[in-house]
Amino acid sequence: MKAAVFSSTHISSHPFLQIEDLPRPQLVAGNVLLRVIACGVCRTDLHIVEGDLPPLRPRLVPGHQIVGEVVEGATLELPLGMRVGVSWMGGVDGKCWYCHHGMENLCDKPVFTGYTVDGGYAEYVLARADFTFPLPPGLDDVHVAPLLCAGIIGFRSLRVAGVEKGERVGLFGFGSSASLAIAILQSWNCEVYVATRGESHRRRAASMGATWVGKEDEKPAVMLDRAITFAPSGKVVVSALASLRKGGVVAINAIHLDQMPAFNYDTLLWGERQIRSVANMTRQDASDFLKIAHELRIRPNVTVFALDDANEALMAVKEETEDGSAVIVP
Ligand SMILES: [Zn+2]
Ligand SMILES: [Zn+2]
Repeated sequence: MKAAVFSSTHISSHPFLQIEDLPRPQLVAGNVLLRVIACGVCRTDLHIVEGDLPPLRPRLVPGHQIVGEVVEGATLELPLGMRVGVSWMGGVDGKCWYCHHGMENLCDKPVFTGYTVDGGYAEYVLARADFTFPLPPGLDDVHVAPLLCAGIIGFRSLRVAGVEKGERVGLFGFGSSASLAIAILQSWNCEVYVATRGESHRRRAASMGATWVGKEDEKPAVMLDRAITFAPSGKVVVSALASLRKGGVVAINAIHLDQMPAFNYDTLLWGERQIRSVANMTRQDASDFLKIAHELRIRPNVTVFALDDANEALMAVKEETEDGSAVIVP
């Protein structure tokens, strides 16, 4: 099969995947073999190939927003030919304290698709059957792909931030994840304030009905109840804190941040303001979000790339040149 392969000896500040012919993965008990139909590109993929996240394997096929078709290892729940999704959370041990306390997203021995195991920048992928889920009808393959991490994790971020109906919510950064979360916030009658670097992202936020849109260092005129930061920048977390009312919460939706600058406790954190981080997702998040996405008819903007152009797809995410989500179609 054809695959885009990351090599840990080739880490640079630009994506450098090589298109290779690899053997098709062998079916293993408890897994299903999928023919990849589409695979969304996530900022985490960029962090992996640029070495912001430590390489865990010498060679890796990235990609964890996989839409595929079951071709081997079918089960009653996952019959042959069924269209299914695989996300970042590719498995847990089911034994650790976190798994036993409903926090499988924090499992001590997690499997991460496209990081600890090969992912979907390929024609075929092996996935654990218990972490492969049927996809709702109504969205075609390339439009459903970005829901599988960007969408689910954006939704989890709203939960972690404790967003309640009618609140004022700030979104700092407006890539794939934020642009999917805004529809849910609007359905909860929240006012949405978007601060983001990319000009095309600001335009898109405005066109999606954000109450206020500004640059990443601009501050809305009102105090926010909640803020979610999507940019991989510690500075943005401090900007978000500066816009927060007493008792407000900042949730950081980023697997990697550059250093957070020193900030003034008395004015920025005192008053029971809280900073939380969002890590991974649970299967419950996935099924809850996909249900809501189906009800709200959430349809992401996508730009399609061929597998041969995987590096260009990653660059588009890095440079924020696309208005929505990049999706690779092998
Ligand atoms: Zn566990
Ligand atoms: Zn992701």
